[in-house]
Amino acid sequence: MIGLDKRLHAKSIDGYRIYTESIEYQLLDQRVKCVRLAFESKVFERFIENYFKCLAEARLVEDLNEISIEQRAFHIRNNVTGEVFKVENWVCECDEIIKTGVPCVHMLECARRIKDMSYVPLFNKRWLK
Ligand SMILES: [Zn+2]
Repeated sequence: MIGLDKRLHAKSIDGYRIYTESIEYQLLDQRVKCVRLAFESKVFERFIENYFKCLAEARLVEDLNEISIEQRAFHIRNNVTGEVFKVENWVCECDEIIKTGVPCVHMLECARRIKDMSYVPLFNKRWLK
């Protein structure tokens, strides 16, 4: 155990590699690149914060219909709080999109499931560059 500790300590002194790849590459989601290019850094940072919360906390409970991409409704559960939110026609009842203009974790969980859908139209247009 002490030997392992010494080896790991020596390895960590050797240094860490800094990620040079873009964040969309790290997330394996090229749609993130469009968001990075379309919005200022403060807006993008909020998006990334919500994106990571989405990955960690949000889970689809129910896809209520599949009429079209524009007219869809989902139930999304926050695994930490247990709360369930309805996202209907790309508006979530948590109202974060109204307060911040940035899609909430629930909207992102829905959008992530539709592979050919861009995240950009989910933002309030006031944030476009
Ligand atoms: Zn929401």
